[in-house]
Amino acid sequence: MVHDPDIAELRRMIEEAQRIVVFTGAGISTESGIPDFRSPGGIWTKMRPIDFSDFLASAEMRRESWRRRFGTDQTMRQAEPNRGHRAISTLVSRGKVSAVITQNIDGLHQASGVPAIRVIELHGNTTYAHCLDCAQRYEIEDIRVEFERTGEAPNCNACGGFVKTATISFGQSMPPAAMIRAEEETLAADLFITIGSSLVVYPAAGFPELAARNGAKLVILNREPTGLDDLADLVLHREIGVTLGEAVGNN
Ligand SMILES: [Zn+2]
Repeated sequence: MVHDPDIAELRRMIEEAQRIVVFTGAGISTESGIPDFRSPGGIWTKMRPIDFSDFLASAEMRRESWRRRFGTDQTMRQAEPNRGHRAISTLVSRGKVSAVITQNIDGLHQASGVPAIRVIELHGNTTYAHCLDCAQRYEIEDIRVEFERTGEAPNCNACGGFVKTATISFGQSMPPAAMIRAEEETLAADLFITIGSSLVVYPAAGFPELAARNGAKLVILNREPTGLDDLADLVLHREIGVTLGEAVGNN
């Protein structure tokens, strides 16, 4: 039995939904120890992010970009999916959730067991790298070994292009295929649940708006108020893992 009325309501909405889309932001991963780079006190308030055009234009900016990536590597490798990730994974395996749209770059949805094909990464993924020209994949650990040996940012073995983490940088356009899929999934959903996003970064934050305008029910789960709380059918200002875990009924 769930006695908390808000969690009971979330559970009821999940049970009644035919096709759920989950949208996640940094808040779900902070419970796994990954800092929210955009939050007050976050790394981007102390260190200016490297714009994509600077990465392309300057060998020093490419080296700096890789130094920063290796600086966060231990945090990234130690982070494990938490109860919130596991609850979402359970809903995917039950056939309730058709897609997980995420602003996160940490790969923790896949690590929690969500098939990669069901995860739509709007900001890419920092757990591997790729060539900006031919898309050849590279592993971070291999790049680190080479970087420590040469002190130079990596170029592609196949085509000579710049190799970069598979993330979307500031000044880099959103990945078109991911954006199209995210829109299609949003329009097909009858319940849209946003989790751990302040819903201020566009175009990503447009998806919950689109879902609501299209007639889907909208749930917002975030510790702090968001820009779209007024639009939602259910708003939960709570911890994510415990709330989702209780709503889904797993640990
Ligand atoms: Zn290449």
